[in-house]
Amino acid sequence: MSVRSAVVIGAGFAGLSAALELSRRGVAVRVLEAADRPGGRAQQWNERGYRFDLGPTLLVMTDLLRTALGDAAFDALALERLEPGYRVCFPDGASFAMHSDIALALAEFARFEPGRASRALRYLADVHGAHVDARARILERDHTLASFARTILSPGRIRPWIAGSLRAFTERYFADPRVVQALTFQPLYLGTSPLRAPAMYALLPVEEMVGGVWYARGGTGAIVDAFVREAQRRGVDVHLETRAERVETRADGGVRVLAGSGRFEADALVVAADREPSLALFDGGTRRGRSPRYGHSACVWYLGLDRPVALDHHTVLLPNDPWGAYAHLDAGRLPDESMLYLCNPSATDPSVAPPGGSALLVLAPVPNRALAPQLDLDALRERAIAAIEARVGPIREHIVVERRRGPQEFERELGLMHGAAFGPDHTLDQMGPFRPAIRHPHLRNVVFAGSGTRPGSGVPMVVISGRLAVDALLS
Ligand SMILES: Cc1cc2nc3c(=O)[nH]c(=O)nc-3n(C[C@H](O)[C@H](O)[C@H](O)COP(=O)(O)OP(=O)(O)OC[C@H]3O[C@@H](n4cnc5c(N)ncnc54)[C@H](O)[C@@H]3O)c2cc1C
Repeated sequence: MSVRSAVVIGAGFAGLSAALELSRRGVAVRVLEAADRPGGRAQQWNERGYRFDLGPTLLVMTDLLRTALGDAAFDALALERLEPGYRVCFPDGASFAMHSDIALALAEFARFEPGRASRALRYLADVHGAHVDARARILERDHTLASFARTILSPGRIRPWIAGSLRAFTERYFADPRVVQALTFQPLYLGTSPLRAPAMYALLPVEEMVGGVWYARGGTGAIVDAFVREAQRRGVDVHLETRAERVETRADGGVRVLAGSGRFEADALVVAADREPSLALFDGGTRRGRSPRYGHSACVWYLGLDRPVALDHHTVLLPNDPWGAYAHLDAGRLPDESMLYLCNPSATDPSVAPPGGSALLVLAPVPNRALAPQLDLDALRERAIAAIEARVGPIREHIVVERRRGPQEFERELGLMHGAAFGPDHTLDQMGPFRPAIRHPHLRNVVFAGSGTRPGSGVPMVVISGRLAVDALLS
């Protein structure tokens, strides 16, 4: 298809990735963003000298950022590798450090399971081999059912274990339940219950250990800024406070996007706002087909404290019974004791808080609004603060600024279906060719990008989705 101009709806990572790829391939691009700033879920919030990344904080697979941004813009970010990437804390006071230095990682496994280092090495080798293969052959391609079947069934590539239970798979290598717990909560990054997650998600902790966990000085917002700068340098026009309200198809096959009093005409369209709600933008609405099942969401508190906290940059607090907590979430209830993710960037970057203070992000997984329309998030906050105080001492009376974002805000402020922070669930029946399609069901010059489509949620995945969307459009 000959595409000389395109409109992109949404300036999150998916939309910005698509815009960069289009401009690199000679297409004139305009990006329409409803909010007053770019970034979508990755926006920042600045208040009284505190700076918070509202969404993504834990960065992996950063080579994808290099591919999207180009060497110069990527190198200017000067990303730092965190060592350890994060620490997983258990109620008995012990903690497991997720190192990405292989010698330190093996020493950490040996501390919990003396004399079994070869098991840890075997785990890393088995999962990493599958990950490298899956990334090149599955994640970075938009498969049809047939090409997907050919890929996974080709001789030498069949790994039946990837479809089994994550917990059972991990228990084959490790005996200490705490090590198993430290290597199995990660599907919640994607909103997927560790109880329903296939074993292939072992690739998440292994990617963190092998590829590292990274930080951009200034936070993830600095990466959004780099994407916008690079897009503008390439001539992309970014229109903020411009909400797409309707998409019309022109007689010549082009598209017209109506946004307030503006009309944006182009040969093609990339919809990088959440996929399912965006179907309503099209003339007469687009037939929705079967709605996917959405994953768990999150409730996040942003706490500006007037004291430092003795926490690593990233910390995960696991409850006494994590498997019971996941079962509660799956049933649409808040567990009595929740898993908590804490981000304390002040440990690495003093610029995120006034001197002597810290900018603490507290995230608890919660069911999405389809599963649980009403949740007692105030009670959850109290339990979370008590759990943090048990580790780091008083924080309640040290809170100077505070904001909360939960499923309602994700739905209202970002237009996310059912307030699901990570989009459709990432179970096997909703992955690869079974996930909502990149191509529009009947318009050849319209494609989707972002966590609502393929390959899935998370900054690396939506950056890939932007590229796959452009490939589909220009093929
Ligand atoms: C709390 C939280 C923590 C996370 N943590 C991590 C993490 O640590 N690491 C990681 O890799 N990932 C993380 N993620 C996931 C990651 O943030 C997302 O997968 C990714 O940012 C989604 O990008 P996107 O471009 O698909 O969507 P979005 O960022 O949601 O962007 C879509 C954009 O479209 C705009 N829009 C919507 N409707 C319209 C319209 N009609 N017209 C114009 N514009 C419109 C929205 O305003 C928004 O800016 C996290 C997500 C959340 C919510």
